[in-house]
Amino acid sequence: MIVVFLSPPGGGKGTQAPRLARQIGAEHLSTGVIFRSMYEANDPLGIKAHDEYWGKGQLCPDGITIPLVEKKLAELEGAVLDGFPRNIAQAEALDRMVKVDAVVSLSITEQTALERLGYRAECKACNITYGLANKPLNKGECNSCHGQLNMRNDDADAAIIRQRFEQYETKTKLLLEYYRKNGNLHEIDGNQDPERVYVDILRALRLDA
Ligand SMILES: [Zn+2]
Repeated sequence: MIVVFLSPPGGGKGTQAPRLARQIGAEHLSTGVIFRSMYEANDPLGIKAHDEYWGKGQLCPDGITIPLVEKKLAELEGAVLDGFPRNIAQAEALDRMVKVDAVVSLSITEQTALERLGYRAECKACNITYGLANKPLNKGECNSCHGQLNMRNDDADAAIIRQRFEQYETKTKLLLEYYRKNGNLHEIDGNQDPERVYVDILRALRLDA
């Protein structure tokens, strides 16, 4: 089973995606995890991705990200993808690689994002934002890929959170339309209590029986 998670910063993807992955016996894959594993496997493209991009805290271009995701998925039976796809080109490439069974979109209001994200740190490789609702287990380290987090100095800054939230909304709108058209989009109210959100996810994917 291949499941894709989409959520804005503070949307709860960091909690829900790994939990679902455990339940369905799939791997929880962020792009950061994929980059690291291909790098550690001495894959030539994985090494290039590290040396030129994520190792320097830079965003990896699609021309490298897409083939690395494809190689990683070819090794697996099931995956819960977190942070990929993040644009239409990646979504189309993913559809050529595998059958995407479900896309879970956790939507929250800007107010929820502001309440949940008190302090901020982010993993550039995974595109995961950390805050009060989604704390790093080890200080300064990404829960997903264990890479070093970029801390924001001037944080708790409502303006920055608002900006990230709006960027997500703008970018993800197209992805949501794409998957809505495909008929595999499940929109979940992420403002609720995490337990309630998880129940809704299971119900949407018909895993609650
Ligand atoms: Zn990471």
